[in-house]
Amino acid sequence: MPTIARMPKFDCNVSEIASVINRYNYYDSVAPNFGIEPHDEPDGVLPVYHTKLNDALGLTAFSEDRKPVYVAISKDIPEDKLPRVCAHELDHIKSSILIKYMDLPEPWSEILIEGYPEFRRYNYWKKLGELENAKNVIRESPYKEALFLANLIDQYYVGKEGVGYRAFIKDIKREKSVRKVFKRFIEQYKSKAN
Ligand SMILES: [Zn+2]
Repeated sequence: MPTIARMPKFDCNVSEIASVINRYNYYDSVAPNFGIEPHDEPDGVLPVYHTKLNDALGLTAFSEDRKPVYVAISKDIPEDKLPRVCAHELDHIKSSILIKYMDLPEPWSEILIEGYPEFRRYNYWKKLGELENAKNVIRESPYKEALFLANLIDQYYVGKEGVGYRAFIKDIKREKSVRKVFKRFIEQYKSKAN
């Protein structure tokens, strides 16, 4: 059973997925966490299914009380795309406070939830100085609006104790409401854009 540092243990016995999940350890240690501390991440054991998915590359299922239940990764993903898809899904678990405190309707809920994994991957490559790979994240992202919005938040958000996307996430944790913090961002953005 692969063990993820500061992450739930994954009840996963499919070797190719297990190796990719182990690689996530490295990714997780390098990529900026944007204010998600180890104690924000859920404890426990989660199954990872490598399975047939009809209309998604991967998915992370949450229960009605907003706790992560399992991860499913499509069997149809080519080997070279597996790390990216797995990292995206594991980052949903890492950022599960966004789901816990989500009090906005669609489409904003989805755009904000998808922003974390995508913006984190973009910044992972930037941090390594690999700008071409960072650009590829934008090119290949199925959530371009989410990435665009996270980038705007990073540029414009002024929080209670800092600026940028990290301050945005930290304020959501403190205020236990995505809506309140996002509303503040919109007001700040409007006043600066005028
Ligand atoms: Zn996603």
